[in-house]
Amino acid sequence: MSAPYTGGCQCGAVRFRAESVGRASICHCRMCQKAFGAFYGPLVSGYGVEWTRGQPKHFASSNLVRRGFCAECGTPLTYEYDGGVELAVGAFDDPSLVAPVIQVNPADKQSFVDGLAALPVRQGAENAEGEAFNARVVSYQHPDHDTAEWPAQR
Ligand SMILES: [Zn+2]
Ligand SMILES: [Zn+2]
Repeated sequence: MSAPYTGGCQCGAVRFRAESVGRASICHCRMCQKAFGAFYGPLVSGYGVEWTRGQPKHFASSNLVRRGFCAECGTPLTYEYDGGVELAVGAFDDPSLVAPVIQVNPADKQSFVDGLAALPVRQGAENAEGEAFNARVVSYQHPDHDTAEWPAQR
């Protein structure tokens, strides 16, 4: 895998790099569901982590753990404990380099999660209105690489 690994939040105010990463997991615990606003938390241990733009804001989700996120756009970024930091897989510039290899805390797993891959798939928008909406979208999301300046001049 290529190193260093880079990534950041959706708006680009917070960017990180890691020299190396551990085994990525998806965590089914209720706290990860809340912290990510999702069905589970995708996390990977980061080593040699540096914040190359901005800093995450933190919420102490317990006496032992704090979770970092971008205060500007809300993107979840870290799970931090004494002596370690895990990074949100989806925040990496290339999440495919950090594919999960294990599931943890299955006791809190949402019952529908195992069926997600079998859901029907719709390509494109549902109707012409949706297609027109999609055609008008101009993304303000930070690109999936480091940038000298952000926000970009529009
Ligand atoms: Zn942000
Ligand atoms: Zn968790």
